[in-house]
Amino acid sequence: MKTNIIPRDGALTSPWQKEIPTATSGQLPPEIVDCLIVGAGITGLTAALLLQLAGKKTVIAEAHTPGFGTTGGTSAHINTFADTTYKEAASAFGEKGAQLFADAIQEGFALIKDHICNFKIDCDYVDKTGYLYAENEDEVQQLADIYDSAVQVGVPVHYTEEVPTPVPFEKALAWYGQAQFHPLKYLQGLQKAYVSAGGTILENTRIEGIDTKDGIHMAAGIRAKALIYATHMPPNINVFNFECAPYRSYVLAVKLKSGTYPDALVYDAQEPYHYVRTHVVDGQELLLVGGNDHKTGHEDPEKAFADLEKYARKYYHVSSIKYKWSSQYYVPVDGLPYIGQMPLAADRIYCATGYNGNGMMLGSIAGKILSDLVAGKDSKYKKLFDPSRIKPVDGFSEFVKENADVAYHFVADRLGVQETDSLKRLQPGTGKVVEVDGKKIAAYRDDAGIIHALSPVCTHAACIVNWNGEEKSWDCPCHGARYDIDGRILTGPATRDLAKINSDGSENSGL
Ligand SMILES: Cc1cc2nc3c(=O)[nH]c(=O)nc-3n(C[C@H](O)[C@H](O)[C@H](O)COP(=O)(O)OP(=O)(O)OC[C@H]3O[C@@H](n4cnc5c(N)ncnc54)[C@H](O)[C@@H]3O)c2cc1C
Repeated sequence: MKTNIIPRDGALTSPWQKEIPTATSGQLPPEIVDCLIVGAGITGLTAALLLQLAGKKTVIAEAHTPGFGTTGGTSAHINTFADTTYKEAASAFGEKGAQLFADAIQEGFALIKDHICNFKIDCDYVDKTGYLYAENEDEVQQLADIYDSAVQVGVPVHYTEEVPTPVPFEKALAWYGQAQFHPLKYLQGLQKAYVSAGGTILENTRIEGIDTKDGIHMAAGIRAKALIYATHMPPNINVFNFECAPYRSYVLAVKLKSGTYPDALVYDAQEPYHYVRTHVVDGQELLLVGGNDHKTGHEDPEKAFADLEKYARKYYHVSSIKYKWSSQYYVPVDGLPYIGQMPLAADRIYCATGYNGNGMMLGSIAGKILSDLVAGKDSKYKKLFDPSRIKPVDGFSEFVKENADVAYHFVADRLGVQETDSLKRLQPGTGKVVEVDGKKIAAYRDDAGIIHALSPVCTHAACIVNWNGEEKSWDCPCHGARYDIDGRILTGPATRDLAKINSDGSENSGL
């Protein structure tokens, strides 16, 4: 067990994280529990609550505090459609697969609504219409495909002439009955219900590895008959490092001069895309403008924010920017999430990952699927989302692309072009991987001028980290592990901090 008290996953905080739920950190249960759930985001808390309500004894181990991960940095749209279109799902998994995927998305949506209703969770839940518009011929064709395939799987969608957007468009779709909420108020509600049902949450408890003996899984002093990795990406080296690509996504919450805010969820079809929606935070109406996603550690986060701001100012009369933040999600190579028995792990170790930008619904349904599997029940989604599934041919080219990119970083980062910058030129508040006496150092100069020197070698798979100037973090371009300026882990799959470099050049290996 390890203690890390960092209130957020970077220098920037979402409005939701201002209201992080605080768990009464529970006591380590002395007995063998039915299930250890690792991670207290929407997946972990949903699974834990359902198991606890089904009469199972469970415990949650969370590396930080509930909502620290992407659930605290989401934009919290609840939809009946997904980033992987039903057409893409059908081409990779057949008509039946696409239908099941649509069912899973809708069941995840319904589960959120049921929880809000059953546990009287006050989480700013509001029904909204979602609009997706096309600005050119290619996008018009994409819309037609999205429309046809949604109709095919029975998801209601309509063409519309009216969209509450200042952006000129050619065609648009309307999805009625979409929704939005405050993700951490929702999480807080789940957490309350879980604790009242007898569940235990251990905060600041990072699970670094599991020992399994006679069918009992042991970690951080906890003993359990089953274990769920609800960590968004399972820790350490595993198959998902090659099957899911980590992406960062950006959000601004801005005040408008007009005081008139769109009463809808509005998305464009660009690559990378943009979206807007409205939320009242602390009694103040704000426009959330998001998008500009890119692979973690690959592009400049400062530019991503600057471009997003340019976009916001081009179309809206922005009076001020109240919040800006970014967070991480994982794109699965064949389009569907991985939910079920963890590949190459002991029996009854489960995982859920690869939700793309749809983890509200998919995290919820994953909680349901995994709680059913732990309880010995079957799930109609088990085969479709099986983490050990053989990738369909359609996904293979993507797999090669993502994998080639990772392989490139393994090699290129190590050969590295000679770094010309010296430590001396490092400005306060900035970081850079520099070369000193032939050795690469991840160096950050704080506002007092002090250098924080770390080994830039990611402790997960030994790629070289990149500086993220917006979040003041070190981000790994290979599998998305992230560290703060002192090398402490912010985001897995790493389970050890970056090694500190002492003034004599020796390294203290990460904990
Ligand atoms: C900017 C952005 C906007 C998004 N918008 C939407 C949206 O509008 N709608 C939608 O449906 N989805 C959206 N998503 C995706 C969605 O937010 C995520 O898929 C979802 O929140 C993932 O939830 P989770 O519980 O699986 O993971 P997380 O919320 O990341 O929770 C995992 C938890 O595990 C803990 N943990 C990690 N490793 C360990 C360990 N070794 N030991 C103990 N604990 C550990 C972490 O601290 C964390 O609290 C968005 C994502 C981003 C980045």
